[in-house]
Amino acid sequence: KKTLNQMLIIFGASGDLTARKLIPAIYNLYKGQHLPENFVVLGVSRSNMGSEEFRSKVVLESEFLQKKIAKEEKDFVQKFADKLYYEDLGTDYDASYEKLAKRINQLDEEHGTDGNLIFYLSTPPSLYETIAKNLHDAGLTKEEKGWRRLIVEKPFGYNLKSAKALNDGLHYYFNEGQVYRIDHYLGKETVQNLLVTRFSNSIFEPLWNRRYIHHVEITNAETVGVEKRGGYYDKSGALRDMFQSHLLQIVSLIVMEPPISSDAEEIRDEKVKALKSLRIMKDEETIIKNTLRGQYVGSTIGGKKVKGYREEEGVNPESTTETFAALKFYVDNWRWKDVPFYVRTGKAMPTKVTEVVIHFKTPHHEVFKSQDVYKKDNKLIIRIQPDEGVLLKFGVKVPGLGFHVEQANMDFYYSDLDSAQVMDAYERLLLDAMQGDTTLYARADEVEAAWRFVDPILECWENNPSVNTYGYAAGTWGPKNSDELIEDSFGWRNPGDL
Ligand code: NAP
Repeated sequence: KKTLNQMLIIFGASGDLTARKLIPAIYNLYKGQHLPENFVVLGVSRSNMGSEEFRSKVVLESEFLQKKIAKEEKDFVQKFADKLYYEDLGTDYDASYEKLAKRINQLDEEHGTDGNLIFYLSTPPSLYETIAKNLHDAGLTKEEKGWRRLIVEKPFGYNLKSAKALNDGLHYYFNEGQVYRIDHYLGKETVQNLLVTRFSNSIFEPLWNRRYIHHVEITNAETVGVEKRGGYYDKSGALRDMFQSHLLQIVSLIVMEPPISSDAEEIRDEKVKALKSLRIMKDEETIIKNTLRGQYVGSTIGGKKVKGYREEEGVNPESTTETFAALKFYVDNWRWKDVPFYVRTGKAMPTKVTEVVIHFKTPHHEVFKSQDVYKKDNKLIIRIQPDEGVLLKFGVKVPGLGFHVEQANMDFYYSDLDSAQVMDAYERLLLDAMQGDTTLYARADEVEAAWRFVDPILECWENNPSVNTYGYAAGTWGPKNSDELIEDSFGWRNPGDL
């Protein structure tokens, strides 16, 4: 695909995400010669600084780039830094955008970026609509000379109502085809590989249904707590922060029907259909029975004291926000009827891992009797991170007398590939947006369908703050009670066991 000359305008340029993810991703694209010939970045925020200071902060003296550029030629890095500019908006994002429009037009002329503009909103979400409106009022959304695209960071909405309002607000100034809602999980190779595993192999897809699959299990675990993001996290919680976005995106790729082509709209149509088929838990009784939340409490890990969630900076000492969530749910369609999906996500867990486990049914008739049937079921494990790869567990005969069955692994790790250059998610997603490819971005109806499923659970949890809420020691696999949720499917897999 061709990447046309263009300018990337980042709102929130003085913030964490810009320095930590966006600029390093753009640097890698530059190094990989993926940027167009004429390309500039214009950083925008309220902080007062000049372009030189911005270049120092996010490139020349950036702690996030230093490692990557240590071996590079100084001139090369300077050449990259020279592509970066900064404009401050003064004290307010509501301020006049005329000055900004002038700067953009001037840079466009100087650098020959052909009037193509991508706006990247990396500010607090409450500003997204205001910025879109101001861009419109300053005449910056008109596609007279080149095209316009708008990338919006997560979280996209706080619930269904606010997500709808934000969609409506943005659609007032940009059409849907111009809006790129980022979910960086979709930028991960291993998440995209879910599509390829399913739809480019004839060995898996015929089994990918209720006749052969017993249940689906997804674990997302982080070893860290909320770190410096306590203030943000306390208003969000695990269900909003991880489940509504990243994990439901993964669910949609597992659940979806084969698209008729790899075209962005075809894939997104199927994902929306998948999300719409999740059985919404409407009444409190069902929600309380099938969901559970937890909050980590202080503990000692390896002789080191670890803070509990309520002691973290920015967190209300009486907070009821969940740092762990586990859910059991069903998908109401022909393919998945009666197949339970179990999903859990948590902070302060024993290991950092995201994996999908497809548990196949045991054979209808057991020829080789074994006492431990479940542990011998066939599993397809898709490792999203770390140790990215795919693992198939199947039964083999133990050498010797009789017919004792043991599990063996067939595995593939991305690191085994010669060309194992796994692109960072932001790199891939930025390049896609620069090329106008929306496949890996969430569409408006997709985001709303995900919220529609999550909304009643959030509401029930809010109305019953102490029901199904448990503490768990930091460094453990969450509340003990989460085992009961999956008891009928023999318990959670220990993601440490590969
Ligand atoms: P941040 O460090 O707080 O930066 C926010 C940026 O917005 C700053 O450049 C700040 O610059 C600007 N800003 C404008 N008005 C503001 C206001 N009223 N209050 C605070 N800041 C204001 O946040 P971030 O971590 O970079 O996150 C940016 C966006 O990306 C957020 O929507 C966040 O949810 C999302 N995100 C971040 C991460 C991450 O790892 N950091 C991951 C996923 C999603 P000035 O004060 O100079 O204007």
